[in-house]
Amino acid sequence: MDTSTLETAVAVRSYGYFIDNQHVHPDHDDVIDVVNPATGRVWARVPNATTADVDRAVASSRAAFDGEWGSWRPADRAKFLIAFGQAIADNADEIAQLQVDENGKLIREMAGQARLMPEYFNYYAGLAQMPLGNTNPTHLKDMLNYTVREPLGVVAAITPWNSPLLLLAWKLGPALAAGNTVIAKPSEITPISTIRIAELARDAGLPAGVFNVITGLGNPAGTALTTHPQVDKVAFTGSTATGQAIASAAGNTLKSVSLELGGKSPNVVFEDADLDSALNGLVAGIFGASGQTCMAGSRILVQKSIYARVVAELAERADRIRVGDPQDETTEMGTIASRPQYEKVLHYIEVARAEGARLVAGGVATTVDGLENGLFVRPTVFADVSNDMAIAREEVFGPIAAIIPFDDEDDAVSIANDTQFGLAAGVWTKDVQRAHRMASKLRAGTVWINNYRKTGYSTPFGGYKQSGVGRENGPDALREYSEEKSIWVDMGQGVKDPFNPRA
Ligand code: NDP
Repeated sequence: MDTSTLETAVAVRSYGYFIDNQHVHPDHDDVIDVVNPATGRVWARVPNATTADVDRAVASSRAAFDGEWGSWRPADRAKFLIAFGQAIADNADEIAQLQVDENGKLIREMAGQARLMPEYFNYYAGLAQMPLGNTNPTHLKDMLNYTVREPLGVVAAITPWNSPLLLLAWKLGPALAAGNTVIAKPSEITPISTIRIAELARDAGLPAGVFNVITGLGNPAGTALTTHPQVDKVAFTGSTATGQAIASAAGNTLKSVSLELGGKSPNVVFEDADLDSALNGLVAGIFGASGQTCMAGSRILVQKSIYARVVAELAERADRIRVGDPQDETTEMGTIASRPQYEKVLHYIEVARAEGARLVAGGVATTVDGLENGLFVRPTVFADVSNDMAIAREEVFGPIAAIIPFDDEDDAVSIANDTQFGLAAGVWTKDVQRAHRMASKLRAGTVWINNYRKTGYSTPFGGYKQSGVGRENGPDALREYSEEKSIWVDMGQGVKDPFNPRA
């Protein structure tokens, strides 16, 4: 890809899908604009896939699964994954820049993610050669049973706009390591970076059709993928509502489904916490990525004895945050990623006010010099929130902290667990026994003790309750992308006549 595709170029660049290692333009002209949320400018266009376009991508992926790719040894797949990681490392600046142009997140954060991505592929290169089967003792004489794990087939990876490539890597690494082929359907807000990654996979030696990219809307493109009889698995990250629609659509053909969905994660501060560290964790938890992360620590539970102090200090910290140009290395919070999301955030601010939460910081849209069309919102803090208010129950996905007071440990656990979600939770305390008690009582897929928002390729991530199904990352992710086959071998005298066994 030459650099004229970057947003800074004057011309709007038109893309096609990426199928069979080539850019493919459909025979219709239904397109989607890609808008830079910091400038408001359209800088690229992608096709809005029809069901027929999806059929074409699936046919390619199926043929690739049945073709040369199927004969690659795990060692070959491992070598490819390492080369792919290196190609990403070599192009990390461009990959980071593309994502900033798509979603307005900070260049600092996107650059960090681009540098981290190769590690995911290196890790799954190692796991590609890990033995995954068992030899199972049986109750029968002279019978050997062993299991092998085989790839599922064609995987549809449906990804969101908040961390387009990192969340793709979480799926692509284990899916390719296990020998599947993958069709990515990125969010229509952030499709270009995924197309670029597919080019890099081709350049690193991936056979045609093993990684295809289809662009378009959730409906029809996403629906066509999730209902397609030749797609064997759907790996999805996004909202709980869409996850529910995907799980039920995939149910018709009984596809395997893994879902990484929304959250309303509690970040719980006890009176014995290291408050400086906790405040840093609260700020990072809700204002990092403009609050647009599934794991945002959006419910801040504070023990009553330190409540007034934490409210005042968090409000003061929020007011100090530099909102600005995501390209500027000194900016601390960038834009909201799209106009609908921006309107959603502003709507929740109004709802919180109407429900009686006390606004102590932000609460307004803002402008940035030179970026008058940008979608900026001030970091917002509401105090005196009760757990039945909308900002405590619904995922906002924006820079809105809801502070809720609590009395004691039991009260904290009961408020923290009173939610439909269960993605993550934070606990801030110096009491090691309390820390572990809390970790065991919180109904969440990840609990951070005296830290927040850490994830990595070697540790599982996923949700309890309506925050998801399955786990991403870690060694077990390979199991999410493979089937177990049980093989029985007679090592004895052969099979006797079933109707006359003594003969
Ligand atoms: P969605 O969950 O609707 O979208 C995520 C992905 O799913 C996109 O690629 C989308 O396509 C696709 N999709 C949408 N509908 C379907 C469908 N019926 N079948 C298959 N695929 C589908 O998130 P949004 O982008 O609309 O954001 C809305 C809210 O979702 C946010 O406000 C936030 O609360 C939550 N969210 C959660 C994320 C997380 O990490 N858990 C990430 C992003 C959003 P397309 O968008 O192109 O139509």
